[in-house]
Amino acid sequence: MAEKAKSKKPSKYEPRKNCPKCGPGFHLAEHKNRRTCGKCAYMETKTAEVKA
Ligand SMILES: [Zn+2]
Repeated sequence: MAEKAKSKKPSKYEPRKNCPKCGPGFHLAEHKNRRTCGKCAYMETKTAEVKA
């Protein structure tokens, strides 16, 4: 694995987002193309990560 240029690489582990409705502490569950909140059923789609 050549990992010299780390700065511009997309991170494998994104920081998990908090639910905007439930607030800090309620992380959105990571799905392939979306994130969902298990508490309030909030959902958002990932648009910047399309890997077809
Ligand atoms: Zn929520």
